Amino acid sequence: MLWKTNRALVGRQAISSSASFLRRAYSATAVDDVASAASTNSLVFRQALQASGPRTNWTREEIAAIYSAPLMDLAYAAGTVHRRFHNPGAIQMCTLMNIKTGGCSEDCSYCAQSSRYQTGLKATKLSPVDAVLAAAKVARDNGSTRFCMGAAWRDMRGRKSGLRNIKAMVEGVHALGLESCVTLGMLDDTQAKELKEAGLTAYNHNVDTSREHYPKVITTRSYDERLETISNVRDAGIKVCTGGILGLGESAEDHVGLLHTVSTMPAHPESFPVNTLVPIEGTPLFKTTRIKFDAVLRTIATARMIMPTAIIRLAAGRVDMTEEKQVLCFMAGANAVFTGEKMLTTACSGWEEDLAMFKRWGLFPMKAYVEPKLRDVSDTVETESKTKDAVMASVSFGQAATV
Ligand code: SF4
Repeated sequence: MLWKTNRALVGRQAISSSASFLRRAYSATAVDDVASAASTNSLVFRQALQASGPRTNWTREEIAAIYSAPLMDLAYAAGTVHRRFHNPGAIQMCTLMNIKTGGCSEDCSYCAQSSRYQTGLKATKLSPVDAVLAAAKVARDNGSTRFCMGAAWRDMRGRKSGLRNIKAMVEGVHALGLESCVTLGMLDDTQAKELKEAGLTAYNHNVDTSREHYPKVITTRSYDERLETISNVRDAGIKVCTGGILGLGESAEDHVGLLHTVSTMPAHPESFPVNTLVPIEGTPLFKTTRIKFDAVLRTIATARMIMPTAIIRLAAGRVDMTEEKQVLCFMAGANAVFTGEKMLTTACSGWEEDLAMFKRWGLFPMKAYVEPKLRDVSDTVETESKTKDAVMASVSFGQAATV
């Protein structure tokens, strides 16, 4: 239809001519303006905004100063840092499969899979390799680029055949063109090297919370044991995925403590998952007061400010967030979601739902193996305009844009 063609043309011209305006607007609102907006913390904001790469010597005081800034200033500054290191439209879609459910000997007081709590969960054995690879293929065909496999184990001691099967899963996931991640509990250096040789992309082992709050949540393994596993993973050359769970009855100081732990590791984690507690009946934390969204957003924005290259992952609990809350997280630096049928034992937003959300907000699935890097902001604007131009050219008004 001619009228549709004309409207599409006008839209394209408007976008094209706005590119130079956007470039000017960006340079006018660059470091100085964003930093002075956060006037109470302008020095530490300026340092974070001007960072040309990750730094690992943050003090707790510096992180607390960023964390406690006025939230809209903090979110804006975090979005600015995000755009300097990442394509702000790209969101990584990951699917997490439980490859061995329940029966775990640990006492993590939020977890349905601990054998110490009556949660009604039925324990299973390790899934067969072909069933896992069939699920990975479904995830890939629906748009996921990372496939994560979780087993409810304390550690890998004495699990030789289990490790052999998991290595076969990792190899199969890679053959499908997907990034692979596993979470299997504590790992020694030899096991980490074996997984690296199998081609494992990343290993997840969360520190969960601050060192101070940790003993109130878990008593069967120490904070330092967690850090040792993370160290074994990093030394083996596997990317580290480590983050936290918000809403375990902790305080704002504990969020700062969690962020301090991960941002002062010898290298920042490649991936920082942000979970919010999904209360499970039968676990000790079932009746804990739910965390407020502003604290979640504050934690994500602070993580982006102090770990500019990490992938920040909206993990468990996302299913309870409205779309608008999720988008606010993306604007403040989150750039990955778990998507699919289930997330371990809890519900998860599905692929179709997420892709529809992406379309509405001009987001798109991140490709596999994208490396963050310092970007020229004017290039970012140019790239975004080209992307929009391509979208406008490919659709008629009144129809949804495809990504
Ligand atoms: S180690 Fe993992 S599976 Fe076991 S109780 Fe803790 S969180 Fe649950």
